[in-house]
Amino acid sequence: MGRIRILPDAVANKIAAGEVVERPASVVKELLENSLDAGAGSVRIEVEKGGRRLIRVVDDGCGMMRDDAMLAFERHATSKLADAGDLLAIATLGFRGEALPSIAAVSRLELITKTANEQVGTRVEIAGGKLLRCDDAASPVGTAVTVRDLFYNVPARKKFLRSEQTELAQIASLVTHHALAHPEKSFELRHEGKPLLEAPAVATPGERVFQIFGSQTFAELIELAERTATLEAPAAEGQPPEQRRFRLTGFISRPQLRKLNRNSLFIFVNRRPVRDRLILHAIAAAYHNVLPPGAYPVALLFLDCDYDEVDVNVHPAKAEVRFRHAGFVHDFIRDAVRAQLVESRPASSLPAAVMKPPQPAAELPFSDFTQAIENQSFDRPPSELEAPAGEQPPEITLRSPAAPAPRLDFGSAPIELPEQAGQVRLKIPDSHGPLPEGAWQPEAPDLAALRDLRPLGQLHNSFIVAAGADGLWIIDQHVAHERILFEHLLRQRASGSVERQQLLLPIVLELTPAQMADYERIAQELAASGFDIEPFGARALAVKAAPAALSAADIENVVFEILEIAESELRRLSLEDLRRAVAASVACRAAIKVNTPLEPAKIDWLLQALARTDCPMSCPHGRPIALRYATREILKSFHRI
Ligand code: ADP
Ligand code: MG
Repeated sequence: MGRIRILPDAVANKIAAGEVVERPASVVKELLENSLDAGAGSVRIEVEKGGRRLIRVVDDGCGMMRDDAMLAFERHATSKLADAGDLLAIATLGFRGEALPSIAAVSRLELITKTANEQVGTRVEIAGGKLLRCDDAASPVGTAVTVRDLFYNVPARKKFLRSEQTELAQIASLVTHHALAHPEKSFELRHEGKPLLEAPAVATPGERVFQIFGSQTFAELIELAERTATLEAPAAEGQPPEQRRFRLTGFISRPQLRKLNRNSLFIFVNRRPVRDRLILHAIAAAYHNVLPPGAYPVALLFLDCDYDEVDVNVHPAKAEVRFRHAGFVHDFIRDAVRAQLVESRPASSLPAAVMKPPQPAAELPFSDFTQAIENQSFDRPPSELEAPAGEQPPEITLRSPAAPAPRLDFGSAPIELPEQAGQVRLKIPDSHGPLPEGAWQPEAPDLAALRDLRPLGQLHNSFIVAAGADGLWIIDQHVAHERILFEHLLRQRASGSVERQQLLLPIVLELTPAQMADYERIAQELAASGFDIEPFGARALAVKAAPAALSAADIENVVFEILEIAESELRRLSLEDLRRAVAASVACRAAIKVNTPLEPAKIDWLLQALARTDCPMSCPHGRPIALRYATREILKSFHRI
């Protein structure tokens, strides 16, 4: 007997289901897309246990007549395509006719639906791909699909499901995307009965952005003035060239808003949310030199074009698209975003010290605008580099007053020690001269040397200059303090005794639904790290206490920073990694900033405390803390050996 058999339908459906129905979030995606394709003005989504126990999507769309309701569960049954030609210009979100049969094959599904022309609606019940019943049911116009016990009959898949919180965050992000694409529709997402997102219909995209991200992020965004481009595409022989029109609208963030990952980039092509590498690249190119490496902007971009300009049939979940004129689309988006950044370069958004004198926007090459920031490409917010208003800090203070100099400029030129550097007492006759380039190297840890350093003063109010037995040392005061605080916090955390401060007024933070889901996941660790945070309504947190090291102004930044890390990396990180990430974030915010004058006593304390750390040579983010110019190098440079 041969070994090859044709699989029964039920088995084939289960296998195929793997493609579309990979996880609870993909069920929500398919059902939500069906509701939008059905012209719904309002979609309500309920989820239990991260979607494993229950997913219900209720819409007020066109509904289905009884025959269609049955047909919808046949493989490749769709009302959205008539022939293969339609595949070239897809206007709907769905089109493969696979979702409903695939979902029904791996769950207990109930569909209740009614069209406007019928008196009574239809209920269809299917479990594991088997039709259990089909009868009359009372229903408003629209469709309600309830999916229970997903993968109950596919144990292998059930085992590999990700955590409830991960799934919920994914679902929240999905609903958020569609809600952003359709401000004119109303969306609601509930988990275990609690609202995660409530977005009633609004008149403008801006109002929707406000609803979802809250006032803080909204204030950091610039609305993209509508931009269009026309491409003359060669047509068939003898025909005039075709005009292809592209239109871009949306919102982009000001340069000072920086994200640690791409999660705040929302891209829509003909209102379909996509993760498109071409467009991600175009955004990165537009912000090149505006943001330091590793930082990402917030952007919501809506590209509208002829349906046949974009092929959405390249990925089973339709997350990727392919453009017919990819190069054109890339450059159009890059230039449109750049132009908007240049145009809306508001003086207040950049620290005064890095602003060039105003020039007419039209004549200003983009590189000029970005160069100023690039020169400051220290990976920290520009606000930290700002000196307090009205203060002109001296460039170098060798424990004696020196001439005032401009504030610290992290320019590309190597730092040259001015003549006062000659005061460094070495056992050889004094010499003067600039330091040769390249002689400063981060050194291997040498705890003993650190402890015996003799501080000489501060360079640019940012670096501690110190003499050691083995040469001249320069220590970055911010990262040094960061390392000290980081280890201190971890020790406190380990002994369960984190010092915390009670806030007089709680700080209220507005969160996106996805951030809210992420928060639930890290709430315990935050509490153990010194935060006292309570949910404040469905979409906000009230911070009542925080680690003592933080100033009130930094608390908000730290919480958002930790959430942002949680959004991406922490799904894979261990608890220990999370603990360290929280400590690193608090330490970075609480540490002494650059451009801060330090009294001698503080400098002494800093060096001693640094010497006592476990790892005094690099900060928690991996940057070097100290540079040493070895005596030997100095001697060589002066041709004394
Ligand atoms: P596709 O969306 O690719 O057409 P589906 O399996 O998701 O395939 O759905 C099959 C068909 O069922 C759709 O083409 C549509 O006609 C109908 N349908 C599904 N969901 C809804 C809904 N919420 N409202 C109205 N019709 C629906
Ligand atoms: Mg569909």
